[in-house]
Amino acid sequence: MIKFLDLYGQYQTIEKEIDGAISRVIKHSSFIGGEEVYEFEKGFAAFQQAKYCVGVGNGTDALEIVLEALDLPEKSEVIVPANSFIASSEAVTRAGYRVVFADVDSSTYTLDPDDVLRRITPKTSAIIAVHLYGHPCKMNTLIKIAHDHQLKLIEDCAQAHGAEFEGKRVGSIGDASTFSFYPGKNLGAYGDAGAILTNNEVLEKKCRMIANHGRTGRYDHQFEGRNSRLDGLQAAILRVKLNYLEDWINRRNDIAVTYYENLKSVSQIMLPIVAKDCRHAFHLYVIRTKMRDELKKYLIDKGIQTGIHYPIALPKLAAYTYLKQGNEEMFANKSDDTLLSLPIGEHLTTEEVYKVSEVIKSFFII
Ligand SMILES: *Cc1c(COP(=O)(O)O)cnc(C)c1O
Repeated sequence: MIKFLDLYGQYQTIEKEIDGAISRVIKHSSFIGGEEVYEFEKGFAAFQQAKYCVGVGNGTDALEIVLEALDLPEKSEVIVPANSFIASSEAVTRAGYRVVFADVDSSTYTLDPDDVLRRITPKTSAIIAVHLYGHPCKMNTLIKIAHDHQLKLIEDCAQAHGAEFEGKRVGSIGDASTFSFYPGKNLGAYGDAGAILTNNEVLEKKCRMIANHGRTGRYDHQFEGRNSRLDGLQAAILRVKLNYLEDWINRRNDIAVTYYENLKSVSQIMLPIVAKDCRHAFHLYVIRTKMRDELKKYLIDKGIQTGIHYPIALPKLAAYTYLKQGNEEMFANKSDDTLLSLPIGEHLTTEEVYKVSEVIKSFFII
């Protein structure tokens, strides 16, 4: 079986260090906050080249907390890409604002700046730039749009740890950014976890307070916040894994090159590209084909697991019928039945990557 994801296999390669980190937390009973959380926040901010990091409960909370901290005007519209995981848009509604979907680009699957411009109204206050699959959004253009229209720019980096745009790590470019450490992400905890990054000290303090009951002292609360903290066990595990992340991302990029070299001759599929001046994090390796369902079945019959991200574009979900954007002529709405995510990750051997490529070729040639 060629696995889509192999979390246990990954654990086995770093077993001693992980076990040591878990024991350390238990010994010190530093289950909430404490040294491990502090050190991970420092290390992760440095890794992403941002000034401040606030560990939180998960990536969805991170988005909600940032939206609340930015204090957007009431009934604001927030522009969200039409292809993403629902968390990107869900957080907008949860924070009390209105979702407006914009299309994604057909070569990088990230926000199409031209469509963002078309969606701006006097009520628009923010853009959520999702670095989908690990490919950075066109940040120079989005920064300019945000600046010209006085919009906040939030980067949803849940799939893009370590990705770079024009030599800068994602997560350090917009007003604030959010990360998920859901177990299957490129940097994954052993449960739910997330983080917020920003270079703005005022915003950092506010996010930290919102995530911890509006606290200034143990029982001193400036306002009502919520409970969404990164816990000590997850932080200790993430600290261990952070040391390997750079190598794991490089390995993902090597695998992507191997797929490209082996599959570029297959005219029936569209392969992912890496736009100029970008470093892709390759959380997902998504190809496109009209024969998606048939190919998926063929691959699983040959022992190769694949995924679909995402099978229903956000505007077409039942949750968003009220927005009436499901029938709009958008690339995202039209392409969701063609997307297929091939296995990628440091768990794969080069032979396995060849094998996947060969099986795909045999599907189209026979
Ligand atoms: C995973 C993910 C999230 C949500 O993160 P959780 O930690 O699962 O809450 C948000 N946005 C995107 C693009 C994601 O892939």
